[in-house]
Amino acid sequence: MSFLEIQEVSKSYRSRKGRQTEAVQKVSLSLERGRCLGVVGESGCGKSTLCRMIAGVVRPDSGEIWLEGSSVREKKNRKKIQMVFQNSLDAVNLHLNAGRILSEPLENFFSMSREERRNKTEGLLELVGLSKEDAGKYPKQFSGGQLQRICIARALAAEPELLLLDEPLSSLDVSVQAQLLNLLADLKREFRLTGILVSHDLEAVYYLADELAVMYSGALVETLSDITALDCLRHPYARRLLSVHNGEAGTEQAEGKSLPEERGEACVYASQCPKADGLCFSKSPELSEREDGHKIACHYI
Ligand code: ADP
Ligand code: MG
Repeated sequence: MSFLEIQEVSKSYRSRKGRQTEAVQKVSLSLERGRCLGVVGESGCGKSTLCRMIAGVVRPDSGEIWLEGSSVREKKNRKKIQMVFQNSLDAVNLHLNAGRILSEPLENFFSMSREERRNKTEGLLELVGLSKEDAGKYPKQFSGGQLQRICIARALAAEPELLLLDEPLSSLDVSVQAQLLNLLADLKREFRLTGILVSHDLEAVYYLADELAVMYSGALVETLSDITALDCLRHPYARRLLSVHNGEAGTEQAEGKSLPEERGEACVYASQCPKADGLCFSKSPELSEREDGHKIACHYI
C-alpha cells in the first residue's frame, strides 16, 4: 500500500430540487511520500470535494482513503493532514491576530510553553517571508498574498505529513501568484513535503508538482507519474488543456452533442468529445495503465 491510497471514492450531492450531482466518481489514486501530485480540471469537476474527502472532513458515499494504512477519518490523522484553501479570508478567524492564528495548531497538537509557542510562531512567520512584527496584525491588515502566506504557515505549524493545497493561488494577482509559487517550491524542497496541489491551471501545477492527475466531471481521465512528460497526454480533454498550456489555438471540440442513450454509464467526456460514438455513450471507460506510470480512461486510445 502506498503512503496515500485512494480507493474508488465517490461522492454525490442532491440539490434541494432533487437533482443529483456526481461530484466525484470512483476515483482511485496513490501517492508516495515526498511526492507532489497536481490535480487539474475545470471549475466544478470535483477537485475540492476530493480534497475534503482526503482531509477526512467529507465522508465518501463509497470507497475509502488511507494514509499510511489508516483511514484519513481517524482522529490521529487530523494533525497529519493539513489543508490550504483558495479564499484565505474565509479560512481564518478575522478576530484573531496572526500570532494567535498560528498559535492555535501549536496548542492543539503540541505541548509547548507560551515562550516556545511565541518563538515557533515568529519562526513560522519568517519561514513564509513575513516578519515577526506581523504577529500583532489582524487578517484585514494583510494583503491577499500575505494572508495566504499565513494560511500556509498555519498548515505547516502542525508539521503535517500531507499538505493539501486547494487552488491556493487562484484568488491572487498573477505577480503575487508567482511569488507564492516560489515560496511553495522552496518549502517543498526544504521539508520534502508530500502534497496535493489542486488547480484549474496546468501552468502552476506543472511548476510545482511531480505527478499529474486530470479530472473531468468527477472522474479521472488521465494520470501521469512524471509530469515532465506532459507531451505524452492523450485523452482528448487532457490534450485540450495541454494545447492551452502550449499556447496553441483550441483543438477540435464537439458542440455538446447528446445522444438519446446518454445515461450514468456514459464516458464523462462523451458529450464534449469529437471522437465519441455509441460505445462512449453507453459504457464508461476504465482508467487503465497504458505504459509505466501512465493511465488513460478512453475506449479509443
Ligand atoms: P471544484 O472544486 O472542481 O470546482 P467541487 O468539488 O467544488 O468542484 O464541486 C463539484 C460538484 O459538486 C459541483 O457541481 C458542485 O456544485 C457540487 N457540490 C460541491 N459541494 C457541494 C455541496 N456541499 N452541496 C451540494 N453540491 C455540492
Ligand atoms: Mg474547488
